[in-house]
Amino acid sequence: MTTIKATCPGCGEVELTPEDIELRVCTHAPASYYVFECPMCRTPIQKPADDRVIQLLISGGVKAMVWELPGEVLEIHDGPALTKDDLLDFHLLLEQPNWVEQLFRVAQES
Ligand SMILES: [Zn+2]
Repeated sequence: MTTIKATCPGCGEVELTPEDIELRVCTHAPASYYVFECPMCRTPIQKPADDRVIQLLISGGVKAMVWELPGEVLEIHDGPALTKDDLLDFHLLLEQPNWVEQLFRVAQES
């Protein structure tokens, strides 16, 4: 059976089988990672997986799962941050019977 060597921050080098490792390959390459539970101390460990690591793990028999980064993560948000006052204003707005109309009016002004 193939053994794969990985490193636990607490225990150092540990040996795993392909079944011990979950490889999550992301459509946005820098977000790819693999996870395993340290066989010594049972700590869950997550590490980034670049192309070389992905190749090594797959050639060692680890099954890759593909996941997509939610589109929102890469959106550029350049407006001001939401403040507590904004949240309070919004709360008060929602108590108005015509809050939908008011919300549209505010959205058109900005
Ligand atoms: Zn450990």
